[in-house]
Amino acid sequence: MNNLLQVKNLSVGFKLRNSTAFAVSGVGFELSKGESLGIVGESGCGKTVTAMSILKLLPQNAVIESGEILYKGKNIISMSEKEMMKIRGGEIALIPQDPMTSLNPLYTVGDQILEAVEIHHKVSKKEAKNIATEALKSVQIPEAEKRFNDYPHQFSGGMRQRVIIGMALSCNPDLIIADEPTTALDVTVQAQILDLIKQIQHDKGTSLLLITHDLGVVAEVCDRVAVMYAGRIVEHASVGSIFETPLHPYTIGLMKSLPDTKSSKLTPIKGQPPAITDKIQGCPFHPRCSKKMQICEKIEPNAIEIKQNHNVSCHLYKKQL
Ligand code: SF4
Repeated sequence: MNNLLQVKNLSVGFKLRNSTAFAVSGVGFELSKGESLGIVGESGCGKTVTAMSILKLLPQNAVIESGEILYKGKNIISMSEKEMMKIRGGEIALIPQDPMTSLNPLYTVGDQILEAVEIHHKVSKKEAKNIATEALKSVQIPEAEKRFNDYPHQFSGGMRQRVIIGMALSCNPDLIIADEPTTALDVTVQAQILDLIKQIQHDKGTSLLLITHDLGVVAEVCDRVAVMYAGRIVEHASVGSIFETPLHPYTIGLMKSLPDTKSSKLTPIKGQPPAITDKIQGCPFHPRCSKKMQICEKIEPNAIEIKQNHNVSCHLYKKQL
């Protein structure tokens, strides 16, 4: 497989006064060129920490304790800040959750895109302006040339997110990491932004790593999905396979908590996920799991491949092997 990104056995911890709290434990996945992978889970499950590890944009007290992040075969973990500056924004672009806080209110949107283009392309000022204007057009900003000189506050939330996506695209990245890209937007605007991301990914053949708490968003946009719980990937499959046959009780719970068009009833998963400072013994989901068995409290399950490219970490499926 033509892997663009391989994350292998990644563990990331936060240094506390006398200990380390693990936000990510033994996470692994691959992403090939043009493919889209959704990482889904509740807040605090480690999905954003995983994504920020790829960009080496972790908080100061975070430490990558083990693992490898291979981007085009080179380990990002051992890259210098200088090397990372070339990759960030140029080869790997980030679409963050809140478009307002990611744009500088003091500069026009055009100048901000221009700055990104000038850092990553060796082109003249005129060419850079053309690239930046084309980027605004590609995300369907009406009257792009005119709006180039507007400030972020002159755009609606949805339009600001389009500007951010345009900025991400202006450097022709190989990989886009989108961290909850529609959470801060109205429902109708969310659908437009998801359509836009899907279309760009399809037209440009860009790989996409989409971080979300919403399985519905994954179903809209992604080829594959990794479900995270308590810092681990508990199920990993194609979107078709996971929606047809969800296996892990947590994934099944997430599906049941999706809004259903036929009924207005939502069934939330009872209880709370563990805090990263909690000591976990056995399966991290056992305090909330209706299928819990004795073994679940003692031994953490390993990932098992149930069918081709569909893995689950749950003792329920051991019996089938
Ligand atoms: Fe539930 Fe046990 Fe499976 Fe964990 S291993 S999800 S507790 S059945």
